[in-house]
Amino acid sequence: MLPDPHRKPPWLKVKVADGPRYRAVRHAVTRQGLHTVCQEARCPNQGECWGAGTATFLLLGEVCTRGCHFCAVTRGDPGGAVDASEPRRVADAVHSMGLEYAVLTSVSRDDLPDGGAGVFAATLRELQGLATPPRTEVLIPDYARRDLDTVLAAGPDVLAHNLEVVERLTPLLRHRRFGYRSSLAVLQRASASAWGGVVKSSLLLGLGEREEEVSRSLDDLLAAGTRILVLGQYLQPTREHAPVVEYVPPERFERWAEEGRRRGFRYVAAGPLVRTSYRAAEAFTSGRCG
Ligand code: SF4
Repeated sequence: MLPDPHRKPPWLKVKVADGPRYRAVRHAVTRQGLHTVCQEARCPNQGECWGAGTATFLLLGEVCTRGCHFCAVTRGDPGGAVDASEPRRVADAVHSMGLEYAVLTSVSRDDLPDGGAGVFAATLRELQGLATPPRTEVLIPDYARRDLDTVLAAGPDVLAHNLEVVERLTPLLRHRRFGYRSSLAVLQRASASAWGGVVKSSLLLGLGEREEEVSRSLDDLLAAGTRILVLGQYLQPTREHAPVVEYVPPERFERWAEEGRRRGFRYVAAGPLVRTSYRAAEAFTSGRCG
């Protein structure tokens, strides 16, 4: 039987987001007319992250051409629209927020010839041009080799691409254009390239995956060169999305974290409320050395 979505376990309760730093970040984001994945994906850590002065910028609009069964982002056709001022506005917001670590991500933009890779690269260059440039992390779609090269050439410190779910669940839960093996290939290409940064990926748990399937995914991610691993609980955004099959208890996340570190990941963030960009700066610092 599936758990009742209205009766979440106590470990999933989050504090209401507020406080002066939270309001300052919200103000900077709103003033620049930007989107954050924190808002669009209804991230449970928004209060903690914004309160700590960090935010993950959602480039290329808030409409995704795909539409995965677990994701709250709106699906549609942006019709090739790109806002040429976005890279500059993101850099202005990062500057005014005084961020030392900036995370950039985007929806999938299959309506663009390069999938939006050029906008990632332009935003990275704007950030590098700031008087005090932040460390940068990009969480990209499943870019083809040429578009991946475009992003890597702009020199992010961390490149993330999410595997999202175990292999068996991929065709059931991700958009049909995604593939488990093709996502691994993105990570593999980045880690084998001359770029030299850190590769990161995430898995959602609680969607019906079996322990041995999670174990195999960890091995696949390691073999693809992933050094930072993120494991979080899937939460159903609306009743139209895939149901939660299990609320994974915190102890099991802790066990996976220990297992991940034992197998060779340099940094593992795992917990019911953990998401890809959670404590991203700390993960980078740990993930680049050792
Ligand atoms: S491609 Fe990414 S942003 Fe689009 S629906 Fe899937 S998970 Fe969400």
